[in-house]
Amino acid sequence: MTLEAQSAAIAAQFDYTDDQVNSAVNEFRRQMTEGLEKDGTSLSQIPTYVTGVPNGTEKGLYMAVDLGGTNFRVCSIQLNGDTTFNLTFTKVAIPRKLMVAKTAQELFAFLAKQIELFLQKHHEDHFEQHVRRRMTMSSPDGYKDEHVFRLGFTFSFPVQQVGINKGTLIRWTKGFDIPDAVGKDVCALLQDEIDKLHLPVKVAALVNDTVGTLMARSYSSPGKTGTVLGAIFGTGTNGAYVEKLSNLKKPLSGEYDKTTGEMVINTEWGSFDNQLSVLPNTAWDVALDKASPNPGIQMYEKRVSGMFLGEILRLVIIDLLKDPKVSFFKDENSSSNDWKSTTNIASDSSIYTQWGLDTAIMSVAAADNTPELSTLRGELEKQLGIYSAGLDDAQAFKAIANAIGRRSARLSAVAIAAIVLQTGKLADPANADEPIDIGVDGSLVEHYPYFRDMIYEALRAIDGIGEEGAKRIRIGIAKDGSGVGAALIALVAAGMEKRLTTADYLGELRSNAKSNNLTVVPEDDAAQD
Ligand code: ADP
Ligand code: MG
Repeated sequence: MTLEAQSAAIAAQFDYTDDQVNSAVNEFRRQMTEGLEKDGTSLSQIPTYVTGVPNGTEKGLYMAVDLGGTNFRVCSIQLNGDTTFNLTFTKVAIPRKLMVAKTAQELFAFLAKQIELFLQKHHEDHFEQHVRRRMTMSSPDGYKDEHVFRLGFTFSFPVQQVGINKGTLIRWTKGFDIPDAVGKDVCALLQDEIDKLHLPVKVAALVNDTVGTLMARSYSSPGKTGTVLGAIFGTGTNGAYVEKLSNLKKPLSGEYDKTTGEMVINTEWGSFDNQLSVLPNTAWDVALDKASPNPGIQMYEKRVSGMFLGEILRLVIIDLLKDPKVSFFKDENSSSNDWKSTTNIASDSSIYTQWGLDTAIMSVAAADNTPELSTLRGELEKQLGIYSAGLDDAQAFKAIANAIGRRSARLSAVAIAAIVLQTGKLADPANADEPIDIGVDGSLVEHYPYFRDMIYEALRAIDGIGEEGAKRIRIGIAKDGSGVGAALIALVAAGMEKRLTTADYLGELRSNAKSNNLTVVPEDDAAQD
């Protein structure tokens, strides 16, 4: 078989037909309902205790940190109350050895240190004022709360949340493995390390990145409609959506505001269909799962998100390289190569190691429309040590990569469609002119060419959505989602700390700001509803 025929045959194994998409949507909805009724299901459907989404008028200065799967971001956010914000941030890559550290303390000490560095660099004045206030404080009624900054902690791993700033780690995902942390309250772990450094920071809210994305998008999206879904397509994938309280049948332990009739639910959809009743399962999906630290779980995520797409592709490539009947990345001599030298793969190429192929190169492949695929061939050299790949090699690489990327987007459409259908908004005549707003975040959806277009293509083929429905679904990037979202939830938390209703809280905040020098939040921080 020629390389071209071989790669086309492989690409075809990643087809996910309209019929399959439709069956998966039905199954997704079934698993959603099941997760709302009891614990221990595939879709965890975790209640977040967040009972409303913002409308853009919220104000204040907050801090936020985000432990994704790849990076740790620290930021401060000024919410201006007019759907805009100012954000300052730093970002560091999480050292691999900390992802599998012996103790949780090692990881969280590193995180606290980054917060300290950020404060020194960007909020030196605040930092100093705080220290000075602490030294001069005399009256017992004076400045009691030494925690100047309320911090929203975006922690993008499955957590059993028991309060707005309290939650225990259920399991690690995305290559993290620190057994010591499982079952512990991650906010307390972070607060302990912050306190050791004497930082003026209080971990006020525990935020899943999906919830942050939902809140951030709702704050900044145009129009009066609230956002219904926040979804991540980055290292991992997950979504949080606004559910009717009446559909939430399993018991809730913590306190929450019942007046809105709604609660944000963190689906943990990365574990959708772990039983593989509707998910596709090629030989390479099987191999990836087997070699992963968590076989049998996060099965949907393993077919959709950034951490895994490159690995699926790598496994396909390794198989092709081993096949004596296929000439892939190996020509006999330079005369058969249009780039005039002989193809070779560096012996230390990361293509030979697990996770050695970054999904980012699949974006390069998808975007390269030059006749010679010269950009892609350049990247193969630079990133993977594959020298002088022939045009046919690069075409095969691209065809297979595109098929994997397309399957990912079509699977992404399954989750989005199921949740849109669950909200009932498409069928509700009262909403007929309103867009159904969805906020997304993550490098995959942001940078993979045509990812959203491929999602829409699948949405149009879904029963109950179709051409017309797809037109009403508005999928927008939640800019700086995790930071702004965490700030918004820290704002909600600041109110809940005082055990007041939202209305009381606002009044209290304003009168406090006038009557004394309480600096729980700055004076101009009167949140509005
Ligand atoms: P996090 O999940 O830590 O919040 P990101 O949203 O940036 O971080 O996602 C990182 C993941 O996205 C990695 O798995 C990486 O391989 C993948 N990625 C990064 N850049 C791109 C790109 N240009 N195209 C596709 N995937 C990308
Ligand atoms: Mg992220």
